[in-house]
Amino acid sequence: MLIVQKYGGTSVGSIERIQEVAARVAATHDAGHQVAVVLSAMSGETNRLLALARQIVEQPDARESDVLVSTGEQVSIALLAMVLKERGSPAVSLLGHQVRIETDTAYGRARIRQVQTTRLSNALKDGNIVVIAGFQGVNAQQDITTLGRGGSDTTSVAIAAALQADVCEIYTDVDGVYSADPRICPQAHKLERISYDEMLELASLGAKVLQIRSVEFAKRYQVPVHVRSSFSPDEGTWLVPEDQSMEEVTVSGVTSDLDQAKITLMRVPDRPGLAAKLFAPIAQDNIVVDMILQNASVDEKTDVTFTVPRGDVHKALEQVKNVAPEIGAEDVVYDTEVVKVSIVGLGMRSHAGVASRMFEVLAAEGINIQMISTSEIKISIVIAAKYAELAVRVLHDAFISSA
Ligand code: ADP
Ligand code: ASP
Ligand code: MG
Repeated sequence: MLIVQKYGGTSVGSIERIQEVAARVAATHDAGHQVAVVLSAMSGETNRLLALARQIVEQPDARESDVLVSTGEQVSIALLAMVLKERGSPAVSLLGHQVRIETDTAYGRARIRQVQTTRLSNALKDGNIVVIAGFQGVNAQQDITTLGRGGSDTTSVAIAAALQADVCEIYTDVDGVYSADPRICPQAHKLERISYDEMLELASLGAKVLQIRSVEFAKRYQVPVHVRSSFSPDEGTWLVPEDQSMEEVTVSGVTSDLDQAKITLMRVPDRPGLAAKLFAPIAQDNIVVDMILQNASVDEKTDVTFTVPRGDVHKALEQVKNVAPEIGAEDVVYDTEVVKVSIVGLGMRSHAGVASRMFEVLAAEGINIQMISTSEIKISIVIAAKYAELAVRVLHDAFISSA
């Protein structure tokens, strides 16, 4: 078999951990498999590098920032390749540009366009364990790019897709994908299987166990992904195409996302073109607007509320304050102390009354819902940030523990 294994930061966080990873990789190789390994930087390293840059300037130059943060993975792959060779296993480390993981030019959040496989395939055919730096690629100008936080997940699934690997194993510090973040919800349980679509929602709604783009690749190329623990041999969670039995479960997972801020324009004259004037400059600034709520108008005036990533709130406010006089808004207010909490499940398609039940559960805790958005398989609400953990726990109790 051809197996891609990805190890996250905690799994390569010390020399001892790297030696344990080497033992697992070598055992897979000794069992007769071809093995490509994708590594993250040692835990804490990417944050340390980003902090160094911020000692110089608050918004470091994007190109140079990628040259800097990509070094974390260079260290970990070199160390693992050394340990493997020392143990007698043939190994070779490769950086993004050596593999040729080609990306667009968006430094810090680049997208993979293509993975060249010639060098990889040759190294594997020669019997080598290939150890690849995650999180990094190269753009058309031959510059280093990085794929956004958690990007090694995406490197590994993209490599697995390009090599048509039999499986992509993602080794992390939890033993699979849970029904909620086990750090904040002790009742959460490990899911044996999850559909690509549910995992896409969970990842985009705050479950950082997988980077969302890795799930997009997995779905598009039907890569069998197995999320599991680097600390134990147990089976983890398989990402699989949907099957009929999955719709029987109404809610598979609960997530929270604190990376949210809410902006409200008060008493705007309700005229055609209002939304277009308001949101065009925000989009031009590359700010992703998530939920939008427009109240019923009173005296032909309405309030418009929307959410943006917390880090973008000041940039968005500048744009909003520019257009506010033009569209006649009477005031602009914002709130960064909010959280988006979501429930996700294929069964929502066929079960009625899920939303009203969700609202009842929150009302019973005295939690006020500020915004609501739904899609076929998820319901998200925005509430005060201080209720984040409580809301995850009571929703998990109501929909999953007691199901
Ligand atoms: P790695 O360094 O291996 O990439 P991450 O820290 O990026 O690991 O992702 C693993 C973490 O994701 C876990 O420690 C856990 O706290 C968090 N997490 C959030 N939601 C979930 C979930 N639904 N299931 C499992 N882990 C989750
Ligand atoms: N080292 C990068 C990060 O911390 C990429 C990764 O770990 O996936 O975000
Ligand atoms: Mg990660």
